[in-house]
Amino acid sequence: MPSARNVIIIGSGPAGLTAALYSARANLAPLVVEGIEAGGQLMLTTMVENFPGRRDSIMGPDLMAEMRAQSEKFGAEIIPGDVTKVDLCAQPMVVETSETKYTTKSIIIATGASSRLLGLPSERGLMGHGVSTCATCDGYFFRGQEIAVVGGGDSAMEEAVFLTRFASKVTVVHRRDTLRASKIMQDKARANEKIKWLLGYEVEHIEDHGKGEVTGMVVRSNKTGEQKAVPVSGVFVAIGHTPNTSLFRGQLELDQNGYIMTHDGAKTSVAGVFACGDVQDHIYRQAITAAGSGCMAAIDAEHYLDNIPEHLATV
Ligand code: NAP
Repeated sequence: MPSARNVIIIGSGPAGLTAALYSARANLAPLVVEGIEAGGQLMLTTMVENFPGRRDSIMGPDLMAEMRAQSEKFGAEIIPGDVTKVDLCAQPMVVETSETKYTTKSIIIATGASSRLLGLPSERGLMGHGVSTCATCDGYFFRGQEIAVVGGGDSAMEEAVFLTRFASKVTVVHRRDTLRASKIMQDKARANEKIKWLLGYEVEHIEDHGKGEVTGMVVRSNKTGEQKAVPVSGVFVAIGHTPNTSLFRGQLELDQNGYIMTHDGAKTSVAGVFACGDVQDHIYRQAITAAGSGCMAAIDAEHYLDNIPEHLATV
């Protein structure tokens, strides 16, 4: 069996690729298993205007291609496919893909989180063309326009209030009459005159009328079944996120929502295993914060490998 790798990075969004860049430049010869959704959530966005150092906007997929090329330039090895199994108790640790079984002295987890989606065909098709899952990223593109936010939790309230900075009107569409959001967040949203409410309604269809950009949506009352068309140019889906942590359940400490718990930088509950990006962050969720935490994970892994106990260093 080949000797253990220094570090395997699972995931190839901004966190994983920044961890790859830093660990490659630290001569650790990292292996990145890119995952089925290679490049992460930025692959679903169009224009990115808030990544520092880019005076001109860049398309999400182009930014990820740049990050990938930069990490490869310094020697990161990136392979396609998904990790199917990990054993974090073994020494060295084991990472399996459907093709190969690898052993490694350290692991950086950057598997991200997936935005929950409504599941409408029109939603996927128009993602990045009026449909968004990130108000911070895309709100600016809707200056002076009428838009909708779907969801009734704290995220939906926060996004609706934030979006009133740009939009002329924000309609919150929520499937029940009662909001799930905390009282303080509800009060803030209800006090905002730009926010209108469609409670007890579900989105049936997002329309583009052949334009390739959102032109409106059709909602249906859950009480009466009545349908109505709502003209909007943007639909922000804010119905929660699911961290991609099923591989690690039972092996790492997770919080009550399934996010990996980190401490002292990017350390997890298992020595030699580090986590970065949205898989451990349900608050900021930005490309730049993910990249920053990827840098932290790589430096933490480097320190760990420098001080690794002798019996593990030789495996
Ligand atoms: P959440 O609390 O799980 O709320 C999700 C909302 O989306 C719920 O209102 C839910 O409806 C709705 N929803 C879920 N699936 C749906 C579907 N298929 N179709 C239509 N609607 C759907 O998620 P979150 O708002 O992202 O919050 C996650 C956690 O982060 C919470 O603990 C929250 O308190 C916290 N958070 C805090 C802040 C803050 O304090 N500043 C900000 C954001 C988030 P139902 O209500 O009918 O289930």
